Amino acid sequence: MKPADLTGLTLKAARDGLATGRFSAEELAQAHIEAIAAANAHLNAFVLETPDKALAMARASDGRRARGEAGPLEGISLGVKDLFCTEGVRTTAGSRIIGEFVPPYESTVSANLWRDGAVMLGKLNMDEFAMGSSNETSAFGPVTNPWRAAGSNQRLTPGGSSGGSATAVAADLCLGATASDTGGSIRQPASFTGTVGIKPTYGRCSRYGMVAFASSLDQAGPIAKTVEDAAILLTSMAGHDAKDSTSLDVETPDFASFVGRSPKGLRIGVPKEYRLDGMPEEIARLWDQGVAWLKDAGCEIREVTLPHTRYALPAYYIVAPAEASSNLARYDGMRFGLRAEGGGTLTEVYERSRAEGFGEEVKRRILIGAYVLSAGYYDAYYLKAQKVRRRIAEDFDAAFLEVDALLTPTAPSAAFALGDRVSDPLAMYLNDVFTVTVNLAGLPGISIPAGLDTSGLPLGLQLIGRALDEGTLFTLGAAIEQAAGFRARPASWW
Ligand code: GLN
Repeated sequence: MKPADLTGLTLKAARDGLATGRFSAEELAQAHIEAIAAANAHLNAFVLETPDKALAMARASDGRRARGEAGPLEGISLGVKDLFCTEGVRTTAGSRIIGEFVPPYESTVSANLWRDGAVMLGKLNMDEFAMGSSNETSAFGPVTNPWRAAGSNQRLTPGGSSGGSATAVAADLCLGATASDTGGSIRQPASFTGTVGIKPTYGRCSRYGMVAFASSLDQAGPIAKTVEDAAILLTSMAGHDAKDSTSLDVETPDFASFVGRSPKGLRIGVPKEYRLDGMPEEIARLWDQGVAWLKDAGCEIREVTLPHTRYALPAYYIVAPAEASSNLARYDGMRFGLRAEGGGTLTEVYERSRAEGFGEEVKRRILIGAYVLSAGYYDAYYLKAQKVRRRIAEDFDAAFLEVDALLTPTAPSAAFALGDRVSDPLAMYLNDVFTVTVNLAGLPGISIPAGLDTSGLPLGLQLIGRALDEGTLFTLGAAIEQAAGFRARPASWW
C-alpha cells in the first residue's frame, strides 16, 4: 500500500491490515513518520518527533506478531500528549518551566498502550499545563487546525488544550492519540477538528505520570478517527492502578463491544438550560438534528433540567485554579527544569524562575487560585464553589433517574481564528460552557463529529453518561456517527 493509503486508515482498519499481513508495523510507522515530517512545519502538532524510537518499537512489534504474541494494539502508531511522562523522552506539558525534563518513568496510561503493542510517534503540542481552549498558551507556539473555512486561508485553532492530539488525528499524522480533559480539553478539540474524543469517568484512567493541572478534574482519554477507534483505545488506556489513589478499582469492559449495538429504547435527556441565548443557529439546528437521529434510532427523548448549569463555569474557574496553584507550587526552579540565572536569595530565585518559566495564562490561574484559597476568601470562594460542584453533581443524579444519557452540543462555536480570543480570557473560558459540568460531576462525556457549519467547519455533539457507563456512550455515539454519515476530511494544504 502507498504511504498515504496507510495513514488514511482508521485504527481498526490498520489493525486488520496488520493482522492479515497486508503491511507491517514498520511500514505503518514509516508512513506516519513521513507524514509528520511533511506536515509539522505547517501544523505544529508535534513538539517532539521520535522516529527512531517509533521504528524500533515497530520492529519489536512485528517480531512479537511473528511469534504469535500480538496484543490488542499491536503495531498501531500513536501520538502522546506532552503531559504524559514518557520514560527517556522529554516531557514538557507545553511549559518552559519544565525545561528539558526527561522522565525516568512512564505514565500508566502510556505504559498500558505500549503493553498492548502500540508504537509511539512522538509527543504532541498542548496549551501550557493544559490551561487553554485554543492551544495558544503553549511555549512551543500554537497548533494550526488542518481545517479551513471554505474559500479562506485564515489559520484556525484546533481548540485546546489537546490541540496537538486533535490536529494530529484529523490530519492523519497518527492513528489515534492520548489526550486529557480537565474542563473540556478532549471534547472541544475533537469538536473543532471533526474527530471523536471521550473523557471517561473520573478514575477510569490512572493519573500516575500525568503532569497535574487540577487533580480532582483531570482525566485522560483518547482522540480518535471514529467512535470504534476511541473505544478500542480507551479499553487499553483504562484500568485500576495502585499508583493513583483516585483510580477506580473496577473492571474495564471491552468498550468496542458496545459499538454497533441497538440504541433502541434508551432514554435521552435534552437539558433545557444548555439552550443558551445567542447560541449560533447552526449549533441549535445540529442539536435538533441529533435529537431526531436518536429518535429515529428508537430512543425516547425527554427534556430534562439541570438547574445549576449557570454556576458551573464560575465554580470551575475557582476549583481548577485553586488546585492548579497548589499543584504548580512544585515548580520553583530548584527541583525541575528552568532556573533563572543570576543567583540572589532563595526567594529571589523562586520569584524570577517562576516569572520567567510560566506563561501569562498559567500565572493568571496561579494568582486566581492563590487568591480564592487565601485566609478570609476561602469560605466565600473555594468552599462556595465546592458546594456548587455538589449541586451540579446532584442535578445530574436527578436527571439520570429519568434518562440514560444526555445530548448537548460540545462547544458553543466552530473553530475560531488563531489570535481571535487570546486577549479576552473570559471569551476563551466561555468555550467550556457545555463541557465543564461533566468534569465537575466526574461523569463520562464523548464528542462525535456530527456535521459541518455553513463555512464547512466541523461541529460536534456531546453525549453525557452515568458514572462508569461509557458503554452506553459508545452505543449512542456510534448511532449518531452512522446517522450523520460524517465523512468530511480537511483538504490537505500543508
Ligand atoms: N479550557 C479549559 C481551561 O482552560 C479546560 C482545559 C482542560 O480541560 N485541560 O481550563
